Amino acid sequence: MFETRLLSSDKSDIEFAAELINIGEVVGMPTETVYGLAADALNESAVKKIFEAKGRPQDNPLIVHISGLHMLDKYVCNVPNLAYKIAERFCPGPITMILPKRDIIPSITSSGLDTVGIRIPFHKTARELINACGTPLAAPSANLSGSPSPTTAAHVMNDMSGRIPAIIDGGACAVGVESTVISFENGGIRILRPGFVSVDDLRNFGVTVYCDKGITEAIGEGEKVLSPGMKYKHYSPKANVTVIVGSLENFIKYVSEHNGDNVYAMLYDSDAASYPYKYVTYGDNAEEQAAQLFGVLRKIDEIGAEQVYARCPSQDGVGLAVYNRLLRSAGFEVVNV
Ligand code: AMP
Ligand code: MG
Repeated sequence: MFETRLLSSDKSDIEFAAELINIGEVVGMPTETVYGLAADALNESAVKKIFEAKGRPQDNPLIVHISGLHMLDKYVCNVPNLAYKIAERFCPGPITMILPKRDIIPSITSSGLDTVGIRIPFHKTARELINACGTPLAAPSANLSGSPSPTTAAHVMNDMSGRIPAIIDGGACAVGVESTVISFENGGIRILRPGFVSVDDLRNFGVTVYCDKGITEAIGEGEKVLSPGMKYKHYSPKANVTVIVGSLENFIKYVSEHNGDNVYAMLYDSDAASYPYKYVTYGDNAEEQAAQLFGVLRKIDEIGAEQVYARCPSQDGVGLAVYNRLLRSAGFEVVNV
């Protein structure tokens, strides 16, 4: 049991956090996507603590964060030329590339796979922390396994208080949904998890871009998945979430027929003026919705919602990531009205 300290992103606090990581502890770290639970990716017992703090299944591999491309070749091999092109365009930034790992990455970090996800975060504090540690940082999202990902230090404190020694407060995450995860396949790109770097961004490299089936469809029992994380229930508030596809008019009619004391709508900001029942809003465009989604999913539990009907987001750009996270928080429960 720890008394979890909230640190600033000042140099001395980053150095203190780095000392904790270098003795094998786990620290909450801000990034531009969501907050991460960071430990030395090369230290097996430290990485084990990440899985324990989150309650994360051992077969769900961790993303390894480095501070720049200069670190890449030490941890992965056989890097395709396309990966360097993507890195030049989007790194540092919200993209994770799955690449063949070198032996220096312990098996616990990659959950026994021979590949590892590598990301260079854009958030300055994250890169300063990596540099202060002098080691790559394994970091999954800093939520309890299954819960919505944290986009503020307060969210991390909520989930991790007592479980880790410290959290660095780096402000609210600018992107708000986790990185785009890609792998390389037959000269093309496969998107395993959508994020801020969009399908169109990747098509601009002139190669085939495949979207993994698990992005918009539930994974069946026992079905093989390329990204182990996709098979787990995730992003779920305590309330039951249902995604509603259709016009605002039909949405209101549907809720009126299913309304109750602890029923809330999750609306676009611009819907609110003409909506007659209880609601929360999550922004008006894909970028706003990405930034607000996880905070709103946490808020609906705070206000005691039991059933939430969410207006379906657009699937364009980062909207696909919002749609994917919302579908998963709803356990793929979708109603067309
Ligand atoms: P999180 O750490 O919560 O952001 O989740 C990381 C995501 O990346 C999960 O969905 C993992 O399954 C996926 N991932 C990490 N490493 C690999 C890998 N080597 N191969 C495929 N997917 C991976
Ligand atoms: Mg996660």
